[in-house]
Amino acid sequence: MQIQLPTEVQNCSNFVNNAFVAGAGEPLIIYSPWNGQKVGESRCSTKGDVDAAVSAASAAQVAWGETPIKERTKVMFNFREILLRDLEKISQIVAAENGKTPIEARAGVMKGVEVLEYAISLQNLDLGGKMEVSRGVHCEYRREALGVIANITPFNFPVMVPMWTIPIALTLGNAYIWKPSEKTPLASMWLANSLKEAGLPSGLFQVLQGGKETVEAIIDAPAVKAIGFVGSTKIAKMVYERATALGKRALALGGAKNHIVLLPDANLDLCGAGISDSFTGCAGQRCMAASVVLAFGDVEKHIAKIIERAKSQVLGQDMGAIITKEQVEFLNKAIDRAEKNGAKVLLDGRKTPAPKGMEEGYWIGPTVLDHVKPGSEAASFELFGPIVSIVRCQTIGEAMKIENEVEYGNACSVFTSSGVHAERVIQSAKAGMVGVNVGVPVPREPFSFGGINASKFGHGDITGAHSLDFWTNIKKVTTKWEPQSDQNWMS
Ligand code: NAD
Repeated sequence: MQIQLPTEVQNCSNFVNNAFVAGAGEPLIIYSPWNGQKVGESRCSTKGDVDAAVSAASAAQVAWGETPIKERTKVMFNFREILLRDLEKISQIVAAENGKTPIEARAGVMKGVEVLEYAISLQNLDLGGKMEVSRGVHCEYRREALGVIANITPFNFPVMVPMWTIPIALTLGNAYIWKPSEKTPLASMWLANSLKEAGLPSGLFQVLQGGKETVEAIIDAPAVKAIGFVGSTKIAKMVYERATALGKRALALGGAKNHIVLLPDANLDLCGAGISDSFTGCAGQRCMAASVVLAFGDVEKHIAKIIERAKSQVLGQDMGAIITKEQVEFLNKAIDRAEKNGAKVLLDGRKTPAPKGMEEGYWIGPTVLDHVKPGSEAASFELFGPIVSIVRCQTIGEAMKIENEVEYGNACSVFTSSGVHAERVIQSAKAGMVGVNVGVPVPREPFSFGGINASKFGHGDITGAHSLDFWTNIKKVTTKWEPQSDQNWMS
């Protein structure tokens, strides 16, 4: 599949009350990481834009919340058909604005469809509950929508991350306000248009473009009851603190530094592909990318396999671009600093040439650093690029101590053929998602996605079965209809 960059600049606006309208704030320019060319333009949303969208969403939500889930789900069935019909077009937009390869962009949309399928199944899954708790007395719980909820999303998955929450929150009866990343807002137009075509009533899905100012106005809007956020740890913490200070429900997913414990008994092929694809996939710009290999014992042939696989990745074909020129410069300098700090560069992405015709784009090749010191920048801080740091360890205990001391807690994997070693890592990892012989241990629906520590602020999860309580209130109802002649102390 070839990348098809848009032939003209895409106009990207807000989507309010089923219409595309420009925000009243500063202009936003969108560049394609493939060639550095302008592919879209938009405008930020002011507080006035936000308040108008939230107020319309609030009015629209009342009838939607009262609509039976079976009817709400019909819209989601239609939405799925439309996304599958337009899969190639949507994927090309994602690839163009984000720098992903078309195959990766397509996979991201399909992961979104997976969540959509889970949301469609809710009508048959979440039955509520009722029982007689005493003579003639029944207790029941009912799930009720919160009202208007908002989600703020990062650049690295322009469709997949928003789709973690859009289908579930809407199916549960909420109105949805979305603030996409200002770096990758184009795909939001496709999703908005698709929901409109699917028959979602006006006002229930509002898209507001912008950055910090727009986010703050969304959090502060009194009618917004819950905030979902996905992005860097620094901003996740700020968003969480601002929302909870206002007494709102918030779940803010942050950055990551994911560890892979590599043991000598690991299957060579599993680990070569699993670890290499984990740090090179999406050019390392995913919160589940492997970034540190904790290598224990004689694993030289395993490392050779990882390098062989990473070396074979052709830029522009197997591996995409980096989101901005500034980020490429940051990554190059981070490799320089690691080298000065004693790391050995086994595979050097600084020198990898850009694909032909894409020289103005933002590129760096896969990079493998060996003998990285625990606690150093390359071992502890999120770099967000196709760089893996190997830290040599004397024992599994030492490896797990290093993993435990990093502030993040998104993912950790182990490559081994020993169940005993695998179980030890599963039990001692300080991470929300753990894998065994899997480089990217992303749980599939209905298993919820989410880390711990500085990778997530708030309780619960924003996807899967554990998200249902976040996007709804549980109303407990106790009823009694008949006066009872046979009353006893339990009645
Ligand atoms: P980011 O934090 O820069 O931006 C995320 C969102 O926050 C964007 O919509 C942006 O407009 C908004 N924002 C930026 N500055 C803000 C401010 N000062 N106040 C309020 N809002 C602000 O993140 P990014 O660079 O777009 O995405 C990459 C990061 O996201 C990485 O750290 C990655 O690990 C993380 N991420 C985490 C997960 C997860 O599930 N934990 C998933 C994907 C990405």
